[in-house]
Amino acid sequence: MSAPGLQADLLITGATLITLNAERQVIEDAALAITGDRIVAVGKREALASSIVAREVLDGRRFVITPGFVDGHIHITGDPITRGFARGGPDDSWSDKLQRWVIPIFKAQTAEEERIAAQVAALSMIRYGTTTFVEAGTVIQLDAVMDGLAETGIRGRVGQWVEGRAFDPNADQAAASAAAIAILEGEVERYPDEGGEARLAAWPILVGHSTNSDDVWRAAKALADAHGLRVSAHMSPRSGDPEWFLAKYNRRPLEHLSDIGVLGESVMLTHLADIDDSELDLLVESGAGAIHCPHAALQGGFGLAHIGKFPEMLDRGVNVTLGTDGVAADILAAGRLMASLFRDARRDQELIPATAILEMATLHGARAMGWSSRIGSLEVGKKADFVLHDTDLPEWGPIFDAVGQLALSAPSSGVHSVWIDGVRVLDAGRATLIDEAKLRADARQAGRAVIARTNLPNRTPWPVS
Ligand SMILES: [Zn+2]
Repeated sequence: MSAPGLQADLLITGATLITLNAERQVIEDAALAITGDRIVAVGKREALASSIVAREVLDGRRFVITPGFVDGHIHITGDPITRGFARGGPDDSWSDKLQRWVIPIFKAQTAEEERIAAQVAALSMIRYGTTTFVEAGTVIQLDAVMDGLAETGIRGRVGQWVEGRAFDPNADQAAASAAAIAILEGEVERYPDEGGEARLAAWPILVGHSTNSDDVWRAAKALADAHGLRVSAHMSPRSGDPEWFLAKYNRRPLEHLSDIGVLGESVMLTHLADIDDSELDLLVESGAGAIHCPHAALQGGFGLAHIGKFPEMLDRGVNVTLGTDGVAADILAAGRLMASLFRDARRDQELIPATAILEMATLHGARAMGWSSRIGSLEVGKKADFVLHDTDLPEWGPIFDAVGQLALSAPSSGVHSVWIDGVRVLDAGRATLIDEAKLRADARQAGRAVIARTNLPNRTPWPVS
C-alpha cells in the first residue's frame, strides 16, 4: 500500500520479496520503496510503481529481497584478525585454551587493532546479509571500536569487557563489583541507545559464565530495564558453568539467575547447550531469549545432538535467535547447520523448516532486541535494512519456492547488495563506505602484530616451510 503520488528516494521493481510480515507474504514481481531510513511502500509492482515518484529506480527482477539478518552473538574484535591462529593444542582443556590462549590474544590488542578488527567483522557480516548484530561483551577499547563501526554503516549493540567477580577469596569483591558496574553505567551513558534509534550504542553486555557477581548481574538488568536496553551474556556451553554454579550456590545457572531476579525479557543468553528441564521451564516462564550459535557448538563439541533442547525451546515459544559467535559470518549457514543437526539427531526431516530458519534470522532477532516494530520484516514504516540476493547465480535455478531455496540451498555468495538505514552499504558485492583493500592490508598487519605481542607459538597442524 502507499499514498498516491508518493515521493521516494529509491524504488526497486520486479523483485521477489520475502516480507516476513504477519501473513508471511512472499510477493513476486513486487515493488519496494524507501525514503530516508524507512520503507515507505511494499506491494505488487503493478499496483504501486505508477504511483511512486522515485529519485532512483532499480530493476530488481533478478533479486530475492529479504529483511536484513540479525546476528545475535558475535565477537567483533580479536577473532576477525587472529582467526587462523591455533588456540592451544590438542592436550589443552577448554578452560586452558580460554585462559592461556584466547583471553591473552584479546588482551594483547591495541585500540587501533580492535578498531580494524571491528571493521573486518562488520564488513564480513554485511557480505552475508547481516545488518544488525549484538556483540558478545568482549570489546576492550570501546571508543576505538565504536569509531570504526560507525564508518561501516552497520547497526549494532556493543559492550565493553566487564569482569566483576573477584575469584581470589582475599580480593575486595565489593570493589570489583563497583568497578564493573561503573563500566556498565559509563558505556550506556557515553553511547546512548536513544530508544533504539541510535544505529550504534552500548548495552550492558556481560561475558557471563561465572565472571560476574550477583551485584553486577542485578545492576546490568536494572540498567537495561531503566533504559529499554538488553543484557546479553554467555551461559552453559558445556558442563563447566552448571558445575560451577552448583558448587557455589547449589543451583544450576538459570535457577540462580532466576533466584536473584535477573531472568526476564530484557535478558538474552548465548549457548545454553547444557541446561536441564527446570532451566527450560525458567526460560519459558521468564521470557528470556536464547541465542544459539551452531558453528561454535558443533566445532566446540558441545554435545548438542545429545543434550540440546533448541527444538523444545522453539516449540514452547522461547525466542531463539541465531548467532555466529565469530566462528563464521554466515548467519544463514548457522540456521542450516542447526536444522541439519537436530533433524539428524531426532531423525525428523520436518524439524526446523526453512521458514523457521528465516524467522530466527530476522523476526526473532528483532524481538530479542526489543525492536519488533523497527526491523525484522519488509513493512511500511520499518527501517530500510534489507538484502538483495542474486538469483542469477546458477545455484538458484528457477524459483519455485524462494523461502526454501534461500534458507536451504542458495549460495552464501549470493548476497549482492545490502541497505542499512536506507544507505546502500554493499553494492554488487563491494563495500561502498570503506576502502576494502586498505582494510585488508591493515587487518593482516594488525593480526600479525597482536600474535607477535603474545609470544604464543603458532601450532600449525602440518609443518610449514
Ligand atoms: Zn561468544
